[in-house]
Amino acid sequence: MKGFEYLEQELQEMKEGGLFRSLVPLQSDQGAKVVINGKEVIQLSSNNYLGLTNHPRMKKAAIQAVETYGAGTGSVRTIAGTFDMHQEFERKLAEFKHTEATLVLQSGFTANQAILSSILTKEDVVISDELNHASIIDGIRLTKADRKIYKHVNMESLEDALKDSRDFRKRLVVTDGVFSMDGNIAPLPQIVELAEKYDALIMVDDAHASGVLGRNGRGTVDHFDLNGRVHIQVGTLSKAIGVLGGYVASSQAVRDYLIHKGRPFLFSTSHPPAVTAACSEAIDMLLDEPERIERLWDNTEFFKDGLHALGFDTGKSDTPITPVIVGDEVKAHQLSDKLLTYGVFAQGIAFPTVAKGLARVRTIVTADHTRELLQEALDAFEKAGKELGIIKG
Ligand code: PMP
Repeated sequence: MKGFEYLEQELQEMKEGGLFRSLVPLQSDQGAKVVINGKEVIQLSSNNYLGLTNHPRMKKAAIQAVETYGAGTGSVRTIAGTFDMHQEFERKLAEFKHTEATLVLQSGFTANQAILSSILTKEDVVISDELNHASIIDGIRLTKADRKIYKHVNMESLEDALKDSRDFRKRLVVTDGVFSMDGNIAPLPQIVELAEKYDALIMVDDAHASGVLGRNGRGTVDHFDLNGRVHIQVGTLSKAIGVLGGYVASSQAVRDYLIHKGRPFLFSTSHPPAVTAACSEAIDMLLDEPERIERLWDNTEFFKDGLHALGFDTGKSDTPITPVIVGDEVKAHQLSDKLLTYGVFAQGIAFPTVAKGLARVRTIVTADHTRELLQEALDAFEKAGKELGIIKG
C-alpha cells in the first residue's frame, strides 16, 4: 500500500546503520531457559524476577478463574466490568503495601498515565528525574501542570527545582524507585526529606522494585522504611509478579478520584479474571515464599561479581538489572547477537532507550536461574566480549 514511503525510508536508514531490530519470538514459556529459533537458550532479558510467570500455582489460579468467571470481563470497570475478585485483590494489595487503598489498571504504563494526567491542574507543577521511565514522561505530557526536570538522582538539582516551585499550588516530585536501564535505586530518603522541607507530594514508580525490594517485595518505600511518607506508589504486576497490570497505591481519596477521572480506567476494559486471580496468587506467594526473593539476590550477586571479574563495565546497578555497557550502538547489538549464538538471550539496548554512547546489553537474572546456568552465561559473555574486544583477550 502506498503512503508510508517516508517511514520505509527511515527504516531503511536504521537498517543501514545497524539499528533495525526484529522482534524475537519465543517458542516456549518464559523461564530461565527459553526456545528461540528451535534452540534452547538462557534467558537474561525478561522481567520474570521471581520465576512466577509459569509457576504451577499461578497457572492453577488462572485456570480456576477462567472456569468460574470466563475469559473476559466484557466492559470497563465503571460500567459493568468490575468483578468482586477485582475489588478483593485491590484490598489484598493495599494491605500488602501498607496503604489505605489501591486501584489496579491495565498496565504499569497506564497506571502512570492515569495518575499523572488526572491529579494535577495548571496551578501545579510536576518535578521529574531526567531518567524516569517513558510512561512517566508520557503521563507528564498529558498533564496541564507545569513541569521541571531535575538531573538524574541529583539532590542539588532537585532542591533547585523545589525552590523555583514555591509559588505553585502543589508540587509533585516523581521518581522511578529502580531505574530500568541502569538498575540503580533512587535515593528515596533524601528525596523524601527534600520534599517534606518544601511541602511537596511524592510519587514513586516501583515497577522494578515490586516483588524485588523491601520486606516480601513490598518495594522501595518499604526497603527504606518510609511507609506513610510517600503519597503515591505505582507498581507493576507485569514483572516480578509475573502477569500483567499496574496499580496505584495511595489514599482512598486518590483511588476514588482515579475511578472518576483516570482516563485509562474509565475508557478501557478491565483485566480478564485469569490475570487478576494469578496476580492475587503471586501476592500470596511473596508472603509464603520469601526465599524466592533471597535466591534472586544471591543470583544477582553471583552474576554481577562474575561480570566484574571478567572486566565488564556494569555501571552503577545495585539491583538484579545489570547493564553491560558497551558504548557503541552497533557493538552492543553485535554482542547481543554473538551471545545468542553462544546460547544466551540478552538484548542490546541503544538510543533512544538509553543516551547516545551508552549502548548496552541489559541482563536480568531471576530466582529460577541455577548457578550452572549463570556460569554458562558468564562463559558466553567472556567468549563474546573477548572476540569483540570489549574485554581483554
Ligand atoms: N515504569 C517503569 C519504571 C518500567 O520499567 C515499566 C516497564 N518497562 C513500566 C513502568 C511499565 O510497566 P508495564 O510493563 O506494567 O506497563
